[in-house]
Amino acid sequence: NWDLILYVNLELVNKMSNRRFIVKEMLGQGTFGQVVKCWDTETNDYVAVKVIKNQPAFYHQAIMEVSLLRTLNQKFDPDDQHNIVRMLDYLSFQNHLCIAFEMLGQNLYELLKRNQLRGLKVKYVQAFSKQILEAMVVMRDAGIIHCDLKPENILLAPSVTTAAAVKVIDFGSACLEGKTVYSYIQSRYYRSPEVLLGYPYTTAIDMWSFGCIVAELFIGLPLFPGASEYDVLQRMMTILGGQPPDDLLREAKNTGRFFKHVGNIFPGSETPDGIASAYRILSEDEIEARESKRPKVGKWYFPSLKLDRLICTYPWNKSELTETEKTDRLALVDFLKGLLEFDPNKRWSPLQALYHPFITGQPFMRPYEPVPETARIPVTRAAAIDHNPGGGHWL
Ligand code: ATP
Ligand code: MG
Ligand code: MG
Repeated sequence: NWDLILYVNLELVNKMSNRRFIVKEMLGQGTFGQVVKCWDTETNDYVAVKVIKNQPAFYHQAIMEVSLLRTLNQKFDPDDQHNIVRMLDYLSFQNHLCIAFEMLGQNLYELLKRNQLRGLKVKYVQAFSKQILEAMVVMRDAGIIHCDLKPENILLAPSVTTAAAVKVIDFGSACLEGKTVYSYIQSRYYRSPEVLLGYPYTTAIDMWSFGCIVAELFIGLPLFPGASEYDVLQRMMTILGGQPPDDLLREAKNTGRFFKHVGNIFPGSETPDGIASAYRILSEDEIEARESKRPKVGKWYFPSLKLDRLICTYPWNKSELTETEKTDRLALVDFLKGLLEFDPNKRWSPLQALYHPFITGQPFMRPYEPVPETARIPVTRAAAIDHNPGGGHWL
């Protein structure tokens, strides 16, 4: 019962804070609990309080959220310059972990909806992309994988200048690179090929989700809105052309769910995209024969458009584009291709992506070739992260 749950949690926030916080309204509801807007009578400011469900699994995951975010805020972004939400405080009350965040604005999905899902102007796509990338550079340096990047988890932030600003929120599914525990992660539309296929993952999965977000900001609709994992994978292959590389398919745990091993490569065994591969994706009929209940396929908005056409002809109604619009789109397509790269080892890092002409605003002349990255910073920061933060100083 929605009203009852809401009432209980509002009461909870009032009680736990000894009436320091006056609850104003509901901001959002997620898998982990509810987020409420409160007036802080001590600081005379609004805060957003996430009240985590009072079950052990949620509690423990939220402890992780607190410790990772504390590390990010204090050690990697002490001056709040990298577009990551600030955690203000936290406490445990009747087995509910309650986390207070700075108050931010609408999330990007709400922004797209407000704009009738028609997508944003290139200058906003560019500005938001740059800011999200800046957060991702820091996350990668900290060895933190967000695991749930999507428009709902990017919020508009008040900006010192008049320019629009965003921040990354919701580290409730995040984990440390090299300490990945779960295999069922990321929201389906934004799920990377390696996670779909069950292959060891790194911060590169966030770059995949980021690519999906950038495309969605431009076209207003999710790029791979698959009704099932198979549907998502098939959409990726249609829009991007190609398929995950053979060595990934060979090693991944779930390859057999989606692909058929067709043996050694011989002339004529190439996929329709012309790749020689030892694997081919199962046909719809083969999938149907395997699954008693056929996944319901959602609305297929652009059945056969490749990424280039999808972006360059948007909004798909043959209106004339100016020269600037044309080159902007070519730069955007080139940018997306480096992010939506099937091979996680070839996918660009956040820093490499930051130097793309789409982000820097330099004229786009030819496909971007990022400077190879020097060796990764060793994951010594794992030691810096306190996994048992205990109570906040409200207690
Ligand atoms: P999910 O189901 O995505 O895992 P969650 O339960 O982990 O969600 P959050 O994503 O942290 O919760 O928050 C849920 C929603 O509440 C957000 O999408 C956003 O709209 C709103 N929200 C969260 N934090 C803030 C904030 N600091 N300021 C304003 N609104 C917020
Ligand atoms: Mg969320
Ligand atoms: Mg979450």
